Order: sequence, then structure tokens, then C-alpha cells
Amino acid sequence: MAAPSALVLKCPHCGEVVPHRVLRGKIGGKDEIVFEGVVRCSKCDTVSNIVTREPKPITVPLVVSWLERSEKTSLEFSPDEDVSVGEEFDLGDTRIVITAIEAEGRRVDAAKAKAIATLWAKRIDQVRVKFSVNKGNRTVPHEVVAAPDEEFEVGEIVDLGRDRAVVHHIRTRHRTMREGRVRADEIVRMYGRVVRERTSR
Ligand SMILES: [Zn+2]
Repeated sequence: MAAPSALVLKCPHCGEVVPHRVLRGKIGGKDEIVFEGVVRCSKCDTVSNIVTREPKPITVPLVVSWLERSEKTSLEFSPDEDVSVGEEFDLGDTRIVITAIEAEGRRVDAAKAKAIATLWAKRIDQVRVKFSVNKGNRTVPHEVVAAPDEEFEVGEIVDLGRDRAVVHHIRTRHRTMREGRVRADEIVRMYGRVVRERTSR
């Protein structure tokens, strides 16, 4: 593992907890992350030899409910980090909130990461639905921001600000829909065309 270019440390000389430039050093350790090296304090410029140790992050199993299914994944924590129900985390591109914690065989409201057997969470993020809109002789890509459980329907008219467009068909991971409705977070892309508004016919 490469050493970082800077570390926030307590300076052995001036006692301030400030960024230190790493002049040289290495990272090692089996059960802990150990940094050994030479650093310069950004406050007093003193060069010191230091050794720091911090616990390696642990991986906690996580079940994220999404649509009518659940997905097994995991989150990394520092072993002594407190985790509680209601806390929010980023998981890849999505945002989740912890809904339940199982630690030492029972449901708890909070626990240290190292004591947790399983975390449960649900997605709370917004999704960006890709919408290819045909405008006469060209196709323009749009994105529609929606809640994950918001539904779109073939034939529906979607407001795109300046334009409005009718949904022709919807592609999901598994199929192409030419009728019916589907949740925003299942949509890979929608296709449609701009609707010309007429005040009279
Ligand atoms: Zn210093």
C-alpha cells in the first residue's frame, strides 16, 4: 500500500493536531493499518519520526430492500464506529437509511460496528430516468429526476420544462414495455417524442 502524501496528526513538538506532510514512509500491518515514516508539521515545521496505528475497517453484511426484493451487500466501518437506526449512508450511487440492526442475536437501535451481525436498510435516493426524446429529425437525451418508487407509464406525457413528451416505450433491465407502467428505479431508458400543443383544431 502506498503511503499518503499527508496525514492529520498530533505534532510531537507543538502539540497541535494539524496536517503533516509525509516526507517518507510506508504502510503495513496485518490486523491494523500501521504507518511508519517521517513527517513535517504544517504548523511549526518540525520534522518528526512517527508511527501511527488504526484498526482495519471491517465489512458488515447489509440487506438493502428495494422494490419488492432485497439485495445482499455490505458496508465498511471502523470497528468501534457507532451505527444507529435512521443513519444515512452512500452505497455506490444510491443513498440508503438504516432501518434495523441485529447485534448479538437481537434487534437493537444502535451498536458498535464490530458487534453487528447484519444491517438492514432501504433506499431513499432519487433516480435519474434517461429519456430519449424524438424531436422531428433528431433525438435529444433528457433526464427526469424521480423518486425510486414513482411510476412511469407508456402513453404518459412528461413535462421536460420547455417541452412535453409522450412516452412511447420503456426499456427495463428485463424487457421492453409498449404498454403498462413501471417504477422509476427499474427503468433503463424511456423513449418518446415531443408533443406539439395545439390550442384548437
Ligand atoms: Zn508542530
